[in-house]
Amino acid sequence: MKLYSTNNKNLRVPFREAVFNSLPADKGLYMPELIPQLDPLFIKDIQQYSLQDIAFHVANALIGDDIPEDDLKAIIDEAINFEAPVKFLNEETAVLELFHGPSYAFKDFGARFMSRVMGYFSEKNEKTLDVLVATSGDTGGAVALGFLGVEGTRVTILYPKGKVSKVQEEQLTTNGQNIRALEVDGTFDDCQALVKLAFNDPTLAEELRLTSANSINIARLIPQTFYYFWAYAQLKAQGVKDVVFSVPSGNFGNIGAGLLAYKMGLPVKHFVAGTNVNDTVPRFLQSGTYEPKPSIQTLANAMDVGNPSNWVRIQDLFSNNLEELREIISSYTYDDEETKAAMDELYAKYKYIACPHTAIAYLASNAYKAAKPGEYASVFLSTAHPCKFPDAINEEVFLKIELPKGAKDSAGKTKLATNLAVSYSDFKAYLLKNLNSN
Ligand SMILES: *Cc1c(COP(=O)(O)O)cnc(C)c1O
Repeated sequence: MKLYSTNNKNLRVPFREAVFNSLPADKGLYMPELIPQLDPLFIKDIQQYSLQDIAFHVANALIGDDIPEDDLKAIIDEAINFEAPVKFLNEETAVLELFHGPSYAFKDFGARFMSRVMGYFSEKNEKTLDVLVATSGDTGGAVALGFLGVEGTRVTILYPKGKVSKVQEEQLTTNGQNIRALEVDGTFDDCQALVKLAFNDPTLAEELRLTSANSINIARLIPQTFYYFWAYAQLKAQGVKDVVFSVPSGNFGNIGAGLLAYKMGLPVKHFVAGTNVNDTVPRFLQSGTYEPKPSIQTLANAMDVGNPSNWVRIQDLFSNNLEELREIISSYTYDDEETKAAMDELYAKYKYIACPHTAIAYLASNAYKAAKPGEYASVFLSTAHPCKFPDAINEEVFLKIELPKGAKDSAGKTKLATNLAVSYSDFKAYLLKNLNSN
């Protein structure tokens, strides 16, 4: 697969290069030059396949020229080694649970696949691969656990101080080994801006073998397509014909992967993006003017993104055609009160305990159903296990949460984090000073 930059369609780089230099120098985002069309027979029989079979088939169509079949199979079997079940709440509403991986969030799909692809492409005698990642909470945990102990790699995580939950912070800061956490006195957007500056810094490029693990990396986007196909396969097995996916959206990588799957031939009737009050995309879809804003802190903090970096990819997928975008995506915005009420409703009606992000997807799913009633399954994506968000969930309900296996492991371990001001020169100095230590 060759990729171009959304800012320069004449540029073409191989997949390997886009994996290690996740941002093109012109600050666009990499997109596949050609979007492969899956065999209609594969889609027709998709209910016969396992998640791993489907993942292999989809990945092979995209990057089969870059990674031979056996290696690709091995990468997928190692990376995608957990479940992603669709569970019906009532006849027409289902939830796709994406939190059964090691960090209890859907980001495990992207992080685990990417870490193994990077390992696969790394040469034995190369410099340590320095992974830089800004996180609003869940990315960091998935990347930390995805890369922990992977030889030849070191991960530096920037997270906004006081804006991630206790469980999230533990997943970020208690690993040691090849994982370093920087506690930044600012917002997620500040963290992301620092990381972006580092990637465009020629001095750092010379001293370090830098790479990104953010959702802008194409190797994170690809595995996120897998579960859309897998969800469709599960639904098809139950006789469902039409599907609408509702995706809780922050940086718009998750829904972007869904739209890529759609472009590859997955029959999806419509996509719904649910956001918290960080509503840059819903405002854009309404007005046609893209006006990013500084991020606002909410209960659904993994979606506190004022300028969603993957949005340009989605626009690119639809040739920047606003009308086409409006035909395939609807979006709805919810504040914290509405989010809380939705979590209460899910518990009262279905005894289902959802994280705040998931609750937003549920609300958006219902809103679309109300606007466009019809015979289709509304599937909202559950992006994280509720145990990661104690502050957002009603205390009585929180006590009823069944903790996933191993969730207690990181509790009580020593926090290992370095404070950082929102200062690029400080960040750069840190990276250069700690060149050879963990
Ligand atoms: C990252 C995250 C999101 C937002 O996903 P994007 O791909 O950034 O839109 C939603 N929910 C949870 C729990 C997350 O961790």
